[in-house]
Amino acid sequence: SVRFVDVAKRFGSVAAVADVNLTIAPGQFVTLLGPSGCGKSTTLSMIAGLELPSQGHIYIGDRDVTTVPPADRDIAMVFQSYALYPHLTIFENIAFPLRAKRRRTTETEVTRKVTDAARMLGLDKLLARFPREISGGQRQRVALGRAMVRTPTIYLLDEPLSNLDQQLRVQMRSELKDLHQRLGATMLYVTHDQGEAMTLSDIIAVMSAGRIEQVGAPRELYDRPANLFVARFLGEPG
Ligand code: ATP
Ligand code: MG
Repeated sequence: SVRFVDVAKRFGSVAAVADVNLTIAPGQFVTLLGPSGCGKSTTLSMIAGLELPSQGHIYIGDRDVTTVPPADRDIAMVFQSYALYPHLTIFENIAFPLRAKRRRTTETEVTRKVTDAARMLGLDKLLARFPREISGGQRQRVALGRAMVRTPTIYLLDEPLSNLDQQLRVQMRSELKDLHQRLGATMLYVTHDQGEAMTLSDIIAVMSAGRIEQVGAPRELYDRPANLFVARFLGEPG
């Protein structure tokens, strides 16, 4: 599980995240849904260990990881900006997490994992290319592939489909659902797209201005919004 206890994050005078209390059960697909600037990415960054909370504690299972370095958390993150390594081929970009020193993945195993992920993401013909030689949507899929070759217990996905066209986005939604079911991993997903949140999630946490307005199953939020913000935000076309 992932648990936030009274977590806040300030950047100077900006309260990016305020008073977040949230528990995510193991294996759930949980979406943080909210408008631009409401604190979604900051929340994920704190779970990943890339930002330290200004206040409060974060637990993964029973372990207080509030100040644990990113590499010592069992997490794979796909960033909103999907930073790829420009000097590495697509193959090596996807293989990157498997090359870490303390992993002893054999070359055969690396090849198998990378080609499996690439096939699933429709990247199999692009493996020898470099990031600058593929499209934005393809780069985003490479970033997903890089998360897929690992098998962490927690995936953090920050708008991983935002650069894809509508058709691919819908296709990738079901790929993500399959992946979630197959891995049984906890997925914490970020989007400002209501439709995406409604179709993918077991649980949605609606955020506004650094706070969580409501947490519940998609249907529950739709039928019984806690306040006008939630009602309006879910009511908007995605
Ligand atoms: P978007 O949907 O646009 O990606 P978001 O919900 O992910 O938005 P965050 O990136 O978490 O929003 O930002 C929350 C708030 O914190 C914003 O007001 C943002 O400007 C501010 N913020 C985020 N990172 C920093 C930083 N490193 N320094 C200063 N302010 C920051
Ligand atoms: Mg963001």
